[in-house]
Amino acid sequence: MTLPDDLPVVDHHCHLAPRGESVEAARRFAAAGGTHLFLATQNYTPETPTTLAGYESQFATTIALAERVAKEASVTCYPVLAPYPVDLIAQAKELGPRAAMELQCAALESAGREVEEGRAVAIGEVGRPHFVYGEELKEYVDGVFRHALEVARDAGCPAVVHCEELDGGGFLSLAALASTTLFPVQKLVKHYHRHPLPQNEYAGVAPSYLAQRGILEEVLDRPAPWFLETDFLDDPRRPGAVLDLATIPRRVKALLERDPTAADRLRRPFCESIEAVYGFRPDVARGRQA
Ligand SMILES: [Zn+2]
Repeated sequence: MTLPDDLPVVDHHCHLAPRGESVEAARRFAAAGGTHLFLATQNYTPETPTTLAGYESQFATTIALAERVAKEASVTCYPVLAPYPVDLIAQAKELGPRAAMELQCAALESAGREVEEGRAVAIGEVGRPHFVYGEELKEYVDGVFRHALEVARDAGCPAVVHCEELDGGGFLSLAALASTTLFPVQKLVKHYHRHPLPQNEYAGVAPSYLAQRGILEEVLDRPAPWFLETDFLDDPRRPGAVLDLATIPRRVKALLERDPTAADRLRRPFCESIEAVYGFRPDVARGRQA
């Protein structure tokens, strides 16, 4: 089965690591028919960064990796940068909560500059730990989250949210946080969304669905904006812990084999939603490899 030439196939949230499979994983994605990756930064060393320089070198690694993926795997790769919200827990232990918050805020501002200078397309992942953490940290976690939305607002880019699975009330409170920080809710994305809600419960926030079996069929008829992602981790110590990077092109091919008319609806996650939330349209001018 060959995919339509003009249909981008996009993984909206993945991680790659220089010490992991790295560019090789992007080659597998391309060989399966994938064309575009949104590459979220991560800690590339076992230690959590405790200095701004630590985060700046992490962001530089992500940007360099995205360039290598484009050059060596012919996959367009969009960096998404921010200090990981979970880092705050370890940083608070080491530096104290206030200094930890200030470090994260400074790292967010550095990520915002990368967006303004065209080296990244969004601020992410931002939000809060997806698990229960110490109540005494809550005001600092919330302070960093608010500042993340201010930085994204000033850079004019989307903010990609990492937090626990949300129900309708959770989406409403995200939208409320956006409005108190004057961040446009239509640029807010909830990543790793696993259980589709009724369409009217997203409060204007764009869900990025984890590409588990059956999800594409379940949400395909929904209007934009929504995305598909694997959250691929590229961690050689945890093979198979998450979805493989070739998952989305494989699911797209399987769907089109059963229903060739689905190609038009696939433009919602892969073209229309990116245009609506990010403000650009991914092109497939270089042609696909599979
Ligand atoms: Zn992630």
